[in-house]
Amino acid sequence: MPRKYPLNKVRNIGIMAHIDAGKTTTTERILYYTGKTYKVGEVNDGSAEMDWMIQERERGITITSAATQCEWEGYCFNIIDTPGHVDFTIEVERSIRVLDGAIALFCAVGGVEPQSETVWRQADRYHVPRIAFVNKMDRIGADLFGAAKMMVERLHARPVLVQIPIGIEEKFTGVVDLVERCAYIWSGEDQGDYGATFDKVPIPRTLLSTAAKYREKLIETIAEYDDLFMEKYVSGVEVTAQEIKAVLRKATLKALVTPVLCGSAFRNKGVQPLLDAVIDYLPAPSDLPPIVGQNTETGESVTRAPDDGATFSALAFKVISDPHVGKLTYIRVYSGHCEEGAFMYNPGRDRNERLNRLLLMHANQRTQVEEIFTGDIVAVVGIKETKTGDTICDPDHPILIEPMIFPEPVISIAIEPRTKADEDKLSTSLSRLVDEDPTFRVMMDQETGQTIISGMGELHLDIIVDRLRREFNVEANVGKPQVAYRETIEEKVEAEGRFVKQSGGHGQYGHVWLRIEPMEPGFGFEFANQAKGGVIPNEYIPAVEKGVIEAMLTGVLAGYPMVDLCVTLFNGSFHPVDSSDLAFKIAGSMALREGARKGRPYLLEPIMSLEVVIPSANLGDVIGNLQQRRAKIEEIKIRNDLQILQADVPLSEMFGYATDLRSITQGRGTHTMQFSHYARVSNEVQEHICGKII
Ligand code: GDP
Repeated sequence: MPRKYPLNKVRNIGIMAHIDAGKTTTTERILYYTGKTYKVGEVNDGSAEMDWMIQERERGITITSAATQCEWEGYCFNIIDTPGHVDFTIEVERSIRVLDGAIALFCAVGGVEPQSETVWRQADRYHVPRIAFVNKMDRIGADLFGAAKMMVERLHARPVLVQIPIGIEEKFTGVVDLVERCAYIWSGEDQGDYGATFDKVPIPRTLLSTAAKYREKLIETIAEYDDLFMEKYVSGVEVTAQEIKAVLRKATLKALVTPVLCGSAFRNKGVQPLLDAVIDYLPAPSDLPPIVGQNTETGESVTRAPDDGATFSALAFKVISDPHVGKLTYIRVYSGHCEEGAFMYNPGRDRNERLNRLLLMHANQRTQVEEIFTGDIVAVVGIKETKTGDTICDPDHPILIEPMIFPEPVISIAIEPRTKADEDKLSTSLSRLVDEDPTFRVMMDQETGQTIISGMGELHLDIIVDRLRREFNVEANVGKPQVAYRETIEEKVEAEGRFVKQSGGHGQYGHVWLRIEPMEPGFGFEFANQAKGGVIPNEYIPAVEKGVIEAMLTGVLAGYPMVDLCVTLFNGSFHPVDSSDLAFKIAGSMALREGARKGRPYLLEPIMSLEVVIPSANLGDVIGNLQQRRAKIEEIKIRNDLQILQADVPLSEMFGYATDLRSITQGRGTHTMQFSHYARVSNEVQEHICGKII
């Protein structure tokens, strides 16, 4: 079966936006105009198609990435949903990883809001080409030019206006297309009339000179990126719309410029030209360089071109447990093609996986396909072991695409089933949630027997508990949130571990000397063996490492995991009869614990980067409150009549912050928080925490 759309007619895109900029509304309109949904969902009444999870409806935010396919002018669009809430940056990262281009959505009144900066930087990091859509042109205070200016100042972007608005605020009726030199006017603009049509008309006379000015600017800007075009421009030769589009496309694909469009999704204006711009300026999978990975057999770096004829490679970017079909794994195909029922290989886990059924997704509606091709984004049923970020590939041509890196969770709570009946369901439900979300962890506290769940923030865990109740019908009680501290040491030390038992019968003998060095933050752990040949037989070395790793799980200060250590085995001894793996493992653990005690251990705590947006009048109170929370204020900026405050603050001090902020600002302040790094706690705080533990 041949592919339905030629590869150059595929666009894998995401819509990146600050909460409330209108992403859901715009997505809805896109689905409507592309003919997939016949009833436009309205965010305000909570029926929007993409936001299919109940919690998202209630909270009005989009958490999970769903991928939706639709068609426009013979082109296939896969829209990968990206969440706007900073607690879910990992969701943003993983969707950015698999999309080829993005629509950056801004509110015409707010312009570039703090969170848009975070997402923009993520997109910069992955070199994602973008077009911008300045939405809400119908709102009082809408300002396209202001928004473009903010893109320069805040994002260091190079915006290129390809449209200017006709009318503004409630008089916003359409846009001038600076490339085609015409105008589009929408009629049927009543909110209820989603079928609003638009007419292509000449540029209104009153806007002729402004349009000419901005067209000139557009041409001048992009001329820099093409010599031939530049020659034409400077010698006064008229350039065609086709030529402008070609050069602008080239510069946009290199992420050098950002074409800017405007409209009002809510009033059904500007969405169709936005779809045309996706075709004109965002890349097809065939525009991308070959994907780079590692051949797991040879260790060599290898590439796969975006081509159906190449061997199959794909990346899993989302795992969802679906009530009807079980586990659904969303994959993006980078090269080759694959039929339903094929066996593929997961090189990261050394597992074969059968791709039982291949589904094209449209929010919560799906169609089954027999074959998938390069550039496709589909959900697969039947994959068992593959997790988010894993590669799936041709078993005969293994390639491991650079995996995504997920941050370690920073906050934990104890969770327990409310009734006996909930008990069994709890553990299976939690393990399904772990499959879905690489930043969510579950573990058992060995001492108390409690189940502990960990994640990236309070909201993250709130939502998990909520999902347990709604989706899995598990009622659970949760404890107070606990901060995930870490331990490390200050001094390089040498330590001995001797585990010897020789009283009658078969004895035990394990004896090691370890050198333990503190390393830089984020180093993690490394184990090396420098013991001279024969001191300890090679077969016991892995057991020593195992013992070290086990001991690192519970630090000597307060039982938190130890990190950032380089551990070297440099001496020891063995007994020809009594030595065993177990004895060396215990000796390894003993030495590490001994070393940690000697090396002046200290605690590390997670520091969050916090952004608070507040009315100017509240600045003093907000700062005072933050100082009590051990915050380090980094920057205070003024935007319109709002203050934007940036600070680093320990997570342990941030519980209940939302409530404080609400009462200080009478509900007008907002904040976003994101894990930044681990830092050493002061002696005072350390004593307090250790005291509490003991
Ligand atoms: P999201 O959080 O980015 O998904 O934003 P939503 O699509 O949920 O929109 C947030 C709010 O803004 C909703 O109340 C929408 O009805 C409203 N909204 C979205 N687009 C527009 C627009 O073009 N004009 C106006 N006036 N309101 C809009």
